[in-house]
Amino acid sequence: MFVYADNAATTKVRPAALKAFEETAQKYFGNPSSLHSAGQRAKEELTRCREKVAAVLGARPEEIYFTSGGSESDNQAILSAAYFGAKKGKKKIISTAIEHHAVLHTLKKLQKEGFEVVLLPVGERGIVKVEDAEKEMDENTCLVSVMLANNEIGTLQPVSEIGKLCREKKIPFHTDAVQAVGHMPVNVNDLNCDYLALSGHKFGAPRGVGALYVRRGAPLLNLIEGGAQERGKRAGTENLPAIAAMTVALEEATRDLPAYMKKVSALRDELIENLSKIPHCALNGDPEKRLCGNVSFCFEGIEGESLLLLLDEEGICASSGSACTSGSLDPSHVLLAIGRVHDVAHGSLRLTLSEDTTEEEIAYMSEKIPQVVAYLRGMSPVWRDLQEGKRTYIL
Ligand SMILES: *Cc1c(COP(=O)(O)O)cnc(C)c1O
Repeated sequence: MFVYADNAATTKVRPAALKAFEETAQKYFGNPSSLHSAGQRAKEELTRCREKVAAVLGARPEEIYFTSGGSESDNQAILSAAYFGAKKGKKKIISTAIEHHAVLHTLKKLQKEGFEVVLLPVGERGIVKVEDAEKEMDENTCLVSVMLANNEIGTLQPVSEIGKLCREKKIPFHTDAVQAVGHMPVNVNDLNCDYLALSGHKFGAPRGVGALYVRRGAPLLNLIEGGAQERGKRAGTENLPAIAAMTVALEEATRDLPAYMKKVSALRDELIENLSKIPHCALNGDPEKRLCGNVSFCFEGIEGESLLLLLDEEGICASSGSACTSGSLDPSHVLLAIGRVHDVAHGSLRLTLSEDTTEEEIAYMSEKIPQVVAYLRGMSPVWRDLQEGKRTYIL
């Protein structure tokens, strides 16, 4: 059996999105900046896409900027608000300890440039407290950035409430909604945000295309200099086939969100229930306030990397919280932020489901994962010490 359970990393391109990509590339091949008819037709198609994306988010078309993806959108929003604030002498930024690196590393760069960065704690459940955010907001704050849904543990953050406070205090508010868009209702007005980042490949569009919502009047600097595309804020010939594919994927993903969420969360809860029976394990994040497709566990006495490799041999594509991609052995900053100690954080497993996930796949994972965990524990010196009482169990 082959089970793809890594949809938070990227999703399979939807057939309708692929079709839109191909048709747009053929039909609207002109450069939207060209004055001739082929260019104008492409420009009209770009306008239609912008209108559709805006409609899904509850935004105005002129508030949507197409970008290369989530990372670029996060960077542009954060740097814009920060540099605009600095001009007025405001250099404090409030964010959370569990943001994606696209946010955290941008904040680190700003910190080196003299900004004060406050990363709010999230507690054991992985959810930031509105009061904690409010306490930090002051007249020097130029930006608050809180993600809508976490990519590792799936927790949903009180973005709407924090956004409301920011609005009252006139502090620009950004939310990284990359994991949320296409998977739960996302409306820029309900969220009270000034900036919102999304990425196509997290909901069935190809990689390398995303969007940034910027509320009318919110400052926006361009990261890429060149032509006047995207109202002079993002130079470079528009990737129209990818934009059209993302638009179709977004419309398809959000067409019946309640049904999608109901179906996928039932599968998620079944998998969580089955895996919870493994001794000395713990669910990461909140059991209820989480993305409908996210399952994240820590298993004591094993290494996440070995678990992934063995699961892959069983045909299961999963992910671990450790930052092995960066070649470092540091465990995930998200798992550390919810209080997992290093050893435990190393034994993490993330399974992210999609609407294509089947009951059979859930049953297969529920059978294989406990077997593989038991096998690895059988070879683990740490597990032997735990069993012999030379170490104490944490989970
Ligand atoms: C994937 C992801 C990003 C980065 O998006 P890209 O399009 O891959 O650059 C940013 N934030 C979150 C929460 C993500 O899951």
